[in-house]
Amino acid sequence: PVDRSPEIQEARLKLPILAEEQVIMEAISENPIVIICGETGSGKTTQVPQFLYEAGYASSNGTIGITEPRRVAAVSMSQRVAKEMNLSHRVVSYQIRYEGNVTDETQIKFMTDGVLLKEIQKDFLLSKYKVVIIDEAHERSMYTDILIGLLSRIVPLREKKGLPLKLIIMSATLRVEDFTDNNRLFSVTPPVIQVDARQFPVTVHFNKKTPLDDYSGECFRKVCKIHRMLPSGGILVFLTGQAEVHALCRRLRKAFPFQKNNTADDDKEESVEEIRKFKKSRKRKKVMTLPKIDLDNYSVVPVDEGDEDRDAETDDDIAGSDIDLDLGDGDSEEDEKSDSSLPLYVLPLYSLLAPEKQAKVFRAPPPGTRLCVVATNVAETSLTIPGIKYVVDCGKVKKRFYDKITGVSSFRVTWISQASANQRAGRAGRTEPGHCYRLYSSAVFMDFEKFSAPEITKRPVEDLILQMKALNIEKVINFPFPTPPPAEALAAAEELLIALGALKEPPMTGRLKQQLAAKLSCPISPLGRIMATFPVAPRYAKMLALSRQHDCLPYAITIVSAMTVRELFEEFDRPAVSEEETAKLKGKKARLLQMQRIWAGQGPMQKLGDLMVMLGAVGACEYAGCTRKFCEENGLRYKAMLEIRRLRGQLTTTVNSVCTDAGLYVDPKMKPPTEAQATYLRQIVLAGLGDHVARRVQAEELLDDKWKNAYKTALLDDPVFIHPSSVLFKQLPEFVVYQEILETTKLYMKGVSVVEPE
Ligand code: ADP
Ligand code: MG
Repeated sequence: PVDRSPEIQEARLKLPILAEEQVIMEAISENPIVIICGETGSGKTTQVPQFLYEAGYASSNGTIGITEPRRVAAVSMSQRVAKEMNLSHRVVSYQIRYEGNVTDETQIKFMTDGVLLKEIQKDFLLSKYKVVIIDEAHERSMYTDILIGLLSRIVPLREKKGLPLKLIIMSATLRVEDFTDNNRLFSVTPPVIQVDARQFPVTVHFNKKTPLDDYSGECFRKVCKIHRMLPSGGILVFLTGQAEVHALCRRLRKAFPFQKNNTADDDKEESVEEIRKFKKSRKRKKVMTLPKIDLDNYSVVPVDEGDEDRDAETDDDIAGSDIDLDLGDGDSEEDEKSDSSLPLYVLPLYSLLAPEKQAKVFRAPPPGTRLCVVATNVAETSLTIPGIKYVVDCGKVKKRFYDKITGVSSFRVTWISQASANQRAGRAGRTEPGHCYRLYSSAVFMDFEKFSAPEITKRPVEDLILQMKALNIEKVINFPFPTPPPAEALAAAEELLIALGALKEPPMTGRLKQQLAAKLSCPISPLGRIMATFPVAPRYAKMLALSRQHDCLPYAITIVSAMTVRELFEEFDRPAVSEEETAKLKGKKARLLQMQRIWAGQGPMQKLGDLMVMLGAVGACEYAGCTRKFCEENGLRYKAMLEIRRLRGQLTTTVNSVCTDAGLYVDPKMKPPTEAQATYLRQIVLAGLGDHVARRVQAEELLDDKWKNAYKTALLDDPVFIHPSSVLFKQLPEFVVYQEILETTKLYMKGVSVVEPE
């Protein structure tokens, strides 16, 4: 029996999935595998685990496991379910790569999909679980896809053992054919239960024109108009990245300032609704109620004009004018003026944001204000923000793109898919009819691809292949992938793993060897097994496996942690809203550059380049107690530093379990490496990144201008450059090894250190 509070109980009863509880539980009891589809917000993530718990699926020796593709969701959903069920975090817990609160008492466990994959390596049958729920399967994240493939085999194995495991796949869309029409995956097609979304109608308004580049500016103008002209209700804006989110937040806060202390005096306080009405009448604009349009059948113009309930307070003489909820495209000169009578409570939301700041979006905004959340893609399906009535969708998403062969990656802002656009629009209709403003034309929308491609077809797969080989899946090509990765990506991964020594090399050379590698059937080597135990990319795992000599492990662990977490330093090259801010950013950047030169060390240490900077930064931060203050003063990203600290702890524990005599611990007062150690560290780095060596172009004066200061790599025909943020940017050593190549305006190497041919 679950003891829920009356408010929670009332909120639950409103969720569409509650009506389906019996159908769902019967399907689960009669079938080993069940697929549940339901709109975001219908209650899948929060309620299905509770149904299972109440039906007795959890016990002291059987956990209900739920996987999420995003860490944000794993953490916040475990907290929400614990709260709804009135149970402690010892019982409803979470585990993500760096942390968790799982105990012996845990019966409902939320985790990222990568965590469950690691558990399969230790216990292929997942014997401690009675039920595994794969959530957000529509996102088609790489680990989710692999888990579904693996579980399709684990479920029958558990059946044979007489210890049945239930598998539930949950998706926000009905597009599940890759799972259902796939005989190799599930020989018996699992039943699909569709939860009827009690979605309120959302009117979709397309821009007449699509802004060429300034979609942030267009977002700003649209939010201003909504806030000035439309009835109360939260606004959710979709942008593509953290810098954009912050810039828009600042601009909006400036336009509609909100003083926290102003709201203390209740008498003086006017509701935002009243203020708005007052302003409205002053501006002689009218408020209209919302036309009803089904999301599946939306149109550019609001239909059902006759249904509109005209606001009695508006002046009749403007009733015939064309003020409509479309709000129009483009500029309006009054937008930038600061207006403190209309406070807007602006919150950012993106995955790198600190968890306590992320949690703010779930709370009600301060009285008298309107909530406006400026978010990246995280708000598309994994989190449901309460009270959103208006969605502003820029139609773009920032994604990391990889070259299948070279692994060169770039962040690109591209149009979203139609499916994503519809998900985004749906966020507006959770609690009442809503509106979605698309900052692009309906013609542009029609050109969007219908769905985005599964992640597994888009990125290098060496980490995945190593994990699979560690599970003794030798012929990767025969694995029941929901959608298989491209053959060339599989071959590139196999070749890299052979080069790293993680797979046993075929006993021949030349063409034949290549052919064999192309068949993708090399078994894992003993070194590969050790590498697979480290929760980092195979290249970095190799570095760790080599670092026992010269007492280099603590340094290698720190460097690998820093390279894995990425983005240690704050980004100060961002657009500022005022001159004052520009000056502040400049000061902070100068300070960071100065610190980086110090962290880069002296003498031979400097040859470790950017990796020495990482080591020095982590060392200095830990020495100072890894405080937020230290990070803010020195341009370090606090959240990254905390993650590095956790990953160092985790890698240290793993090393100790692999070699029991290592006796390692995380030393907060780690001394800088000696000269000999620094030299050895460079060799270790080279062993993991052997194919990432670049040579300064010779006789560049003979080449054309684009080769100025350039490097040549084995993989690419085009010139590559040391990134301006590198401490080696000005030195231009003859040979370098790089962590990765990122393509922006040019091909840039990041994480660079010096190689000296011996
Ligand atoms: P689904 O998984 O189908 O998208 P969820 O189970 O995540 O749906 O959400 C169901 C409801 O629970 C939503 O209306 C959402 O607003 C609410 N909810 C989820 N998390 C929280 C939270 N942390 N605080 C308040 N409400 C929440
Ligand atoms: Mg969900």
